[in-house]
Amino acid sequence: MHTNSSIELNQAAYQNNIAFLKKTFGKKVLLSSVVKGNAYGHGIQEFVAMAYRCGVNHFSVFDVEEAKLVYQTLQDKVKIMVMGLVQEQDMEWVIANKVSFFVFEKTRLTQAVRTAKKLQKQARIHLEIETGMNRTGFEKKELSSIIPFLKKEKQHLYLEGICTHYAGAESIANYHRIEKQINKFEEIYQYLCHNELQPEIKHSACSAASIMFPQTRMDMVRIGIMQYGLWSSPEVFVNYLNSKKNKIDPLKRVISWKSNVMSVKRVNVGDFIGYGTSFLAERKMKIAVVPIGYSHGYSRSLSNQGRVLIQGQRCIVVGSVNMNMMTVDVTDIETVKTADEVVLIGTQEEHTVSVASFSDFSNQLNYELLTRIAKTIPRKIIE
Ligand SMILES: *Cc1c(COP(=O)(O)O)cnc(C)c1O
Repeated sequence: MHTNSSIELNQAAYQNNIAFLKKTFGKKVLLSSVVKGNAYGHGIQEFVAMAYRCGVNHFSVFDVEEAKLVYQTLQDKVKIMVMGLVQEQDMEWVIANKVSFFVFEKTRLTQAVRTAKKLQKQARIHLEIETGMNRTGFEKKELSSIIPFLKKEKQHLYLEGICTHYAGAESIANYHRIEKQINKFEEIYQYLCHNELQPEIKHSACSAASIMFPQTRMDMVRIGIMQYGLWSSPEVFVNYLNSKKNKIDPLKRVISWKSNVMSVKRVNVGDFIGYGTSFLAERKMKIAVVPIGYSHGYSRSLSNQGRVLIQGQRCIVVGSVNMNMMTVDVTDIETVKTADEVVLIGTQEEHTVSVASFSDFSNQLNYELLTRIAKTIPRKIIE
């Protein structure tokens, strides 16, 4: 375990976000908490335990490794759905533990049936439909051969859901593409129903779609970024605010990331700081060394850009972010000393470094930045 820094998850903030989301979607819509990518960097096991305490009982993951982590934490108290990869060797575990999974290829279906027969169980599948993203999903023309197969193997295949995913609902520029996807999905759903295949639920929305296109909420929403207190894009946030009288952000950031000053030193005018020549001291400076670098997930692209908080003041990263360390300008903080708290994401006195402002400097998406935070950093829940 690294002790160079620590991550805190704020349960009250999470509770607030879940309350907002549930109120927005209403009682009839099931909320699935998307926890792929180590729960967007929050730490999957700590995060799902907290989410469960806040009333969440459905989790979506990318692969079986993640499904197993959720299962280890919460066993069969919750439903787990794999949206991406199930390798052949994992099929048994998945079916035996009633974990549901997306299918988007005939081979996956036949594998599922074979394993389910062997275990004398039912595989719980979500039929993923290709509606225009061109990533994974069955095309309409493939369905004519799938439908008889699904009917024939009913005893071992339970059609728990039908689903699709939108290609960029967070941007107005994609409006027509998404509208087409919505229509295509409905058409294919009707086609299945006419063929006497009625999935238990129908779902398609991620965070952005759930706000920008309310008709995509259907029976279940798969919510990632918003539950963590962040918006998919500024457009989604603005779109939400425009629909409201009071212009207040209803979401609260769940994560904070903190470290401590490792060393303080003085630098003379005309000296370069760190590797190479990217930062030249144009005055006498005082520099604090922070034991966080790109190996911990603090992006190198924040070199000479990133901001951190020390003694309630904003300090800029000077020189390049190294593998395990970075240097920040503390010239104007008189009393700065070793062991002072450094906030990388979060609030200190009046100032906040939000994930968004952190990523604006480097043009990274919230998503990418969060998921890069090293898994080995300890996560603690603050109630
Ligand atoms: C990641 C993902 C989501 C959640 O996306 P957010 O934008 O974080 O809400 C939903 N559905 C699928 C298939 C995903 O891969």
